[in-house]
Amino acid sequence: MEDCLFCKIVAGKIPARKVYEDDEVLAFHDIKPARPVHVLVIPKRHITSLASTTETDLPVLGRILAIANRLACEQGSPDGFRLIINTGPIGHQEVQHLHAHIVGGPEPVGPML
Ligand code: ADP
Repeated sequence: MEDCLFCKIVAGKIPARKVYEDDEVLAFHDIKPARPVHVLVIPKRHITSLASTTETDLPVLGRILAIANRLACEQGSPDGFRLIINTGPIGHQEVQHLHAHIVGGPEPVGPML
């Protein structure tokens, strides 16, 4: 997707502070961290949102879930974290490329709502 910000990061056209990469997913620091640890994990292939996923996407969704704990520990949130996938306008999704926020740090992140 030519106009997609996160596709440009995958393609190396926009810089990002990468922390993990494999053939299917890429993880990088959020540019405006909400907490001391704030990493985004995205599928390399363009998927607009969780709402547009199908069974075909199960492997990459599984990989995002599977890598989250390791990344949280490596980035300084070994005692837990919050994993957030904002979805659609009601979910306040700003970037239209599926991404999971890993949010944490040394202190509890606080109540969700
Ligand atoms: P929200 O702003 O409600 O969290 P999203 O769930 O779509 O909406 O999150 C998009 C995230 O992408 C934001 O946390 C934002 O700071 C982050 N972001 C935007 N541009 C970049 C970028 N170039 N590099 C890293 N993170 C980015």
